[in-house]
Amino acid sequence: MNLGIYIQVPFCQTKCTYCNFHTGVVSADKYAPYAAAVRSEITDFRKFYGSAGISVESFERAVADTVYFGGGTPSLLDPTHLAGVLDAVRGSFAQELAEVTLEADPETVTEAKAQAWAAAGINRVSFGVQSFSDTELKASGRLHRREDVYRAAPILRSAGIQNLSFDLIVGLPHQTAASWRNSLEELIGLNPEHVSIYMLEVDEGSRLGRELISLGTKYSAPVVPSDEQMADSYDLARELLAGAGYEHYEISNWAKEGRASRHNLKYWQREPYLGFGAGAHSFNGTTRWANAHDSAEYVATIQSGRLPAEQIETISLEQAHEEEIFLGLRQLRGINLDQLDPFYVSTLSDKFSLLQSAGLLEREGNIVRLAPRKLSISNEVFVELLG
Ligand code: SF4
Repeated sequence: MNLGIYIQVPFCQTKCTYCNFHTGVVSADKYAPYAAAVRSEITDFRKFYGSAGISVESFERAVADTVYFGGGTPSLLDPTHLAGVLDAVRGSFAQELAEVTLEADPETVTEAKAQAWAAAGINRVSFGVQSFSDTELKASGRLHRREDVYRAAPILRSAGIQNLSFDLIVGLPHQTAASWRNSLEELIGLNPEHVSIYMLEVDEGSRLGRELISLGTKYSAPVVPSDEQMADSYDLARELLAGAGYEHYEISNWAKEGRASRHNLKYWQREPYLGFGAGAHSFNGTTRWANAHDSAEYVATIQSGRLPAEQIETISLEQAHEEEIFLGLRQLRGINLDQLDPFYVSTLSDKFSLLQSAGLLEREGNIVRLAPRKLSISNEVFVELLG
């Protein structure tokens, strides 16, 4: 069995207006104790999990093959901290680390860092590009500018990191049909191996989201594109990326051949992963748990010898079935009904037929998948099926 290891680094240099993640701006002298706490959580994971009543049995024979440093902005940490965390992983798990990803913001990349990352074993960098329009980047509170992406990508490639992923966001303030097309074309010109495209999330968790909900005018809320424009932008991404040789393999993800994210596939295929750090989530096949979000609380709890797990949830059979449908349908290849519980599938058959006649689902034998042309409204399918 393969195992994914996720490391959460919840620090950023500033807070982007659209960001609804649990991340914070802290002084840089907090980074070293945080990295030490993460190392300790990894090295002593048996003790920590045991004290929280979480079974580690399923991990004893697992081989860790992916590590993902996410955030936040993990590229802010000193490379020696990242290397130390990877050493802890190598010392604590049977491992063959095929894919080690670091999320990085373009402005944080330097030659010295890139070389140190490669030397530590990082072989994939996921860039928060978000847009190639400086107007959109500035309005969203991003620190980098278009030219930082052009500066950073060659630095990484020269350091030997040849697997790059670029993120873009549909729906940033000031985004127009023309500026979105330009961002896609510039991205394709840089030829990353992998692309993630996320739709702007409007909720109470971000400053921009709250402004949009209250119909306010701050954070350039009045120039956020309409839902229709966002759906068109997503469809344009599908078209241009397909034309550039990217396979669309998950609602938000495209990859050149053989470059799908091995780590993220584990989430969609319900394979086990362990998350270390503040707010990190884990899944051992039957139980999900998450650490406390607050980084100071996380460090203090680890230092006191306890696991800062806040939510420990045993997954019921019903939940497992729902997850199989929800996560399976996110993948463009769809779900194979033969591999699901027959009784559960029978309870959904009327809904499948209804969604099929509405053109939202496609069915070929026992394979059910989202209709590619309706992916931008996939939430409607999930609400209908699982609501
Ligand atoms: S860099 Fe990423 S995690 Fe940090 S505030 Fe911006 S969007 Fe959020």
